[in-house]
Amino acid sequence: MDTLEDFEKQFGVEKQCLDYLTRLRWPNGYRCPRCHHDESWKISDKKYKCKNCGYQTTVTAGTIFQDSHVPLTDWLKAAWYLTSSSGKKTAAELQKLLGLGSNRTAQLMMDKFSLVWDSCVGYQLEGTIEIQTRKILLPISKEKKFVLFIAAVELYGAKAGRVRMGIVREKFYQNENEFVRKTIAPGSKLLGVRWSNSNQLFQTGEYERTAKRPEYTFKYAVKALDDLASSIERIRAQKSTIPRYIRQYCFRKNRLLGKVEFETLLKAAIDFQPTPYGELPAKSKAK
Ligand SMILES: [Zn+2]
Repeated sequence: MDTLEDFEKQFGVEKQCLDYLTRLRWPNGYRCPRCHHDESWKISDKKYKCKNCGYQTTVTAGTIFQDSHVPLTDWLKAAWYLTSSSGKKTAAELQKLLGLGSNRTAQLMMDKFSLVWDSCVGYQLEGTIEIQTRKILLPISKEKKFVLFIAAVELYGAKAGRVRMGIVREKFYQNENEFVRKTIAPGSKLLGVRWSNSNQLFQTGEYERTAKRPEYTFKYAVKALDDLASSIERIRAQKSTIPRYIRQYCFRKNRLLGKVEFETLLKAAIDFQPTPYGELPAKSKAK
C-alpha cells in the first residue's frame, strides 16, 4: 500500500473503512462493551444491539472517530498520510490532501492521532537510552515558574531513535522514576540518570545503568529539550498547551523513523476509549 492509488482501492469507500475498523475492534467478532456478550442484532451498518443486555453501540463509539463530521475515508487517508514514510508531515499538507476547507480540522485530526499514539500500550523505548532533565521557566498566571521536563531518546550507535518527553511532578508523572517505568521497556540500558532516588531503578534489576564514556556528549535528549524550551518561548506556550506540544513533537519525530505503522495506529485508535464502556457521551466536542 505504497501509493495513494493503492490506498484508495482498499479504503476509498466508507463501507470499506468501516469493515476494516470493525475487524480491528472485534477481531473475534462482536463483543458487547458492557456485558461482553458475543451476540447482537445489527441495527444499521454501524449500530449493534446486544442480545443479552440490549445495550447499543457502534464500532466507533468512544473513539476519536465518534461523532466526527469527517468521513472515515478521510480519517484513514490521514492515517495513511501520517504513517507513509517520506517527508515531513504538516497540517497544511493534510488539509490539501483531504481537500478540507480549514486548517483547523487537519490540526485536530493530527492531534487526535498523536493522542492515540501516546496512549498506545507497548509504545515504549528500548535498548540504550539517553536521558536528560531540565528546568524550564514557564509563564504561569502572572508569576513565572520553573517546571521540570524530562526527555529520553533511543540510541542506535551514533544515531538517535525514538523520543519520549514528559513533565515531572505536574500531572504527567509523579517523579523521574515513574517516567522511566512508563516510557522505557524493562531491561533497557540508561545513560545519564542522576536524580536522587534513581538507584531504585537499578537495585531491583529493572534497568541497567550505563556509564558514559568520557568522549561522549549528550546530544539527542538535550536537543529535544532545547526544541521544547525554544518553542515554549516562541509560542508563549501556556501550561495547558504544553502536553499537546510534547505529544505532537514526539509523534512527529517517531513517525519519521518509520516506527508508526498504518495498522498499528488505527488499531490503537479504535481501541482507545477515553469514555467508559465506549458509551456515547451526550455531547462530544469531537469535530
Ligand atoms: Zn450486553
